[in-house]
Amino acid sequence: MRRNLSQLRLVPAALSIATVVCGTSSAAARGSAAQSGSSATAVVIDAGHGGFDRGGIPGQRIPEKEMTLDVAQRLKALLAASGYRVIMTRDSDVFVPLPTRVSIANSYQNAIFVCIHFNSAKRMGASGIETYFYSHESLPLASAVHYYVAGGAPTSNRGVRRRGFYVLRKTKIPAVLVECGFLTNPSEGDYAQTTSYRQKLAEEIAAGIRGRSSVASALSSTRVATGESIPYQPYIDQTKIHDSDRSHSKHSKKSSKTKASKKKKPSKSIDSEASTISKEREG
Ligand SMILES: [Zn+2]
Repeated sequence: MRRNLSQLRLVPAALSIATVVCGTSSAAARGSAAQSGSSATAVVIDAGHGGFDRGGIPGQRIPEKEMTLDVAQRLKALLAASGYRVIMTRDSDVFVPLPTRVSIANSYQNAIFVCIHFNSAKRMGASGIETYFYSHESLPLASAVHYYVAGGAPTSNRGVRRRGFYVLRKTKIPAVLVECGFLTNPSEGDYAQTTSYRQKLAEEIAAGIRGRSSVASALSSTRVATGESIPYQPYIDQTKIHDSDRSHSKHSKKSSKTKASKKKKPSKSIDSEASTISKEREG
């Protein structure tokens, strides 16, 4: 996820790469989407990184950009088959600037924005699934997606987190960012490299998208509807925590102006953060 800031300068024109995939609109597919109980039937899928932006940390063995694109394309197929209108911010190995990704998302109404990433850390033992959101209206979606992805993954649950990453702050539609595990973790990296696991990740994300209204309805009414009730996932509000160097290029709001100050101030390591979270969550 990390990327040298200098790479941000190399911004090829990528405005034309957004592609729209419409579902086959079979009766069954339409019914499936309708059963979600939500008026939002367009999903903007954002595969993290791409092109010269490989993602991850320097020297990382598994390229994050390939894993995110593969999961995104699998998710696209699943959602399209369920009758959703699907928009991809990228559908090939190209670099798309963050503002372009946001612009694509904001050009749709009644839509949701789902960013797919994988995590990385210098410590190989760092592991787990985490899901980010920023706006209040995005929490049900984050909670539902996380419920399924973390529930279906053979790894730790790092929780739902609130943080003001660029693509989450700037989008005007419900937006979430899923970190589908650590590619720097030997076990999670091995999993991520199998098509079956990437397919499972896509299926779990799709299940969260379809089930997001269950969270909202469970909260807004004492009556639990027919669908499966998805509990709110515990989350940690990190919007007031200074971004550390683990910060994701994808969601980072840093600029060259802040780079110097950032370097001077080491902040809490991902590992201490992870252990804190797991203690809280496994109680
Ligand atoms: Zn990433």
